[in-house]
Amino acid sequence: MPTNLPLKEMTLEEKLAACPSCGNRNIKKVRRNWTGSFKGKRYMVPNLQYYECPDCGEKVYDRDGMREIEAHSPAFERMHPKRRSA
Ligand SMILES: [Zn+2]
Repeated sequence: MPTNLPLKEMTLEEKLAACPSCGNRNIKKVRRNWTGSFKGKRYMVPNLQYYECPDCGEKVYDRDGMREIEAHSPAFERMHPKRRSA
């Protein structure tokens, strides 16, 4: 597999250089409103940053992204009640 990605970008994206699902190296960081659902209940995380594979549609979240999702998800509501981080 050829690695002709610019080094500059590799340092930023080194955590996720390829799609974990299909191996596509074009997976890229996006930032948009993200909608998820939990037990049929929909919720939105505005302006979430995550990685999306243009090939298979796989979405990958980094630590910050996971925390954002958890902060909005009804699934995690009980784990940190009324706690808001800036
Ligand atoms: Zn993929």
